[in-house]
Amino acid sequence: PTDINKLADEYLRLAYHGLRAKDKSFNATLETDFDENLGLVNVIPQDLGRVILNLITNAFYAVNEKAKADIEGYQPTVTVSSKRTPLLGGAGGGSQVLKIAISDNGNGIPKDIVDKIFQPFFTTKPTGQGTGLGLSLSYDIIKAHGGELKVETEEGEGTTFRIVIPVT
Ligand code: ADP
Ligand code: MG
Repeated sequence: PTDINKLADEYLRLAYHGLRAKDKSFNATLETDFDENLGLVNVIPQDLGRVILNLITNAFYAVNEKAKADIEGYQPTVTVSSKRTPLLGGAGGGSQVLKIAISDNGNGIPKDIVDKIFQPFFTTKPTGQGTGLGLSLSYDIIKAHGGELKVETEEGEGTTFRIVIPVT
């Protein structure tokens, strides 16, 4: 039984302070929108934690890249939210799903590459900065939990990754 809100909040802050330790000029607003009634959820915390950390790390990278362009009024923002809801709006026979979303207001993912991001070793980062394994690993972990990992992105505006996993 895991406190998902606490796990996600800790990783968000840990990742942010890790980045700040390397680059003092890096600044971002951290936003959270946690379901207060989430309670403890039965998951493998190492697995889910790894996925959340991968997605948060990518989000910070994306906003940091956009920040380098010195766009007037741009405030890098990474948002993490959680929600526990009945499956199929209550028609799921008491089953529930846990939803976690990680959003950033970075540059988004170009249409011609969005289909490739979950492939192993696909990266657009310079050598040494990305292995291209984060999303493929995350996808496999979520699938192994019977869930789904989806992306919504708008070029120039930002990206949201959504984790949906069944919970008991
Ligand atoms: P890596 O981070 O090592 O490049 P990932 O598997 O985590 O590998 O991500 C693959 C690619 O997907 C990234 O190189 C990047 O092009 C794209 N990507 C992932 N997350 C984001 C994001 N939040 N915003 C923009 N692009 C992203
Ligand atoms: Mg990554």
